[in-house]
Amino acid sequence: MQSPLLELQLRNLKLAAILENYRARLGEHTEPLPYLCDLIELEIAKRQENGTRARIAAAHFPTIKTLESFDFALQTQLPKAKLLEHFDGGFVTAHRNLILSGPPGVGKTHILCALGLALCTRGHRVRFTTAAALLMRLIAAKRDGTLQREYRTLDRLDVLLIDELGYIPFEREATDLLFQLISQRYERRSIALTTNLPFEKWTQVFPDEMTATAVIDRLVHHGAVFAFTGQSHRLRTRGKEPKSA
Ligand code: ADP
Ligand code: MG
Repeated sequence: MQSPLLELQLRNLKLAAILENYRARLGEHTEPLPYLCDLIELEIAKRQENGTRARIAAAHFPTIKTLESFDFALQTQLPKAKLLEHFDGGFVTAHRNLILSGPPGVGKTHILCALGLALCTRGHRVRFTTAAALLMRLIAAKRDGTLQREYRTLDRLDVLLIDELGYIPFEREATDLLFQLISQRYERRSIALTTNLPFEKWTQVFPDEMTATAVIDRLVHHGAVFAFTGQSHRLRTRGKEPKSA
């Protein structure tokens, strides 16, 4: 049975999953109410899937990484269970932060991306950026007179993922903008970041100790710090790649 009028109305109401399935599912049911519930469930599932897909696209992950492909046996020092608690998004609703620190190649960006992906599927608005790209963006916005708009855009994110803080030293102007951003998010929105620097060396990238301390204070006050250790995965796996003839 087909109903052109119903199809038109379903299209108008943007009930795409019901439109797609109402004929096929009809045969599976004898009672109208379970039939309707079945269709509504399909619609909800489809919307969740579409929402997740849109959030993942908006997050701009550099690569798609998952927890499944992360070998925790290589990070024996890492409190795995404590880190995994963050993947259910509780820290985002509590407006807490997460800091992943350690040397290059030990999986910090991998975990940051995997975390971001998990948060997208749980309905959180996420954005991935490197610290350098974020600061360039803020500086450009300041020059263009659009800084407040840029801050408002960032403020709509539930979690801002900042990769590679500490790789390059910041100018005073950049530090001030970063400090402002971190202060705005403090106790309101979450930040998850990776850094190659232990806190005592943050003064190397910030223009003075006071600013470094102020930034660290705000990040760590309601935050968890995870120290990654070990040898670079890039170096370790390099010799194992198939050799070209
Ligand atoms: P970092 O951000 O700490 O410099 P990355 O996350 O970029 O390191 O890791 C470098 C590469 O090694 C990536 O391809 C990543 O997926 C992989 N990698 C690092 N650690 C692990 C691990 N424990 N298990 C699986 N892959 C890993
Ligand atoms: Mg990295």
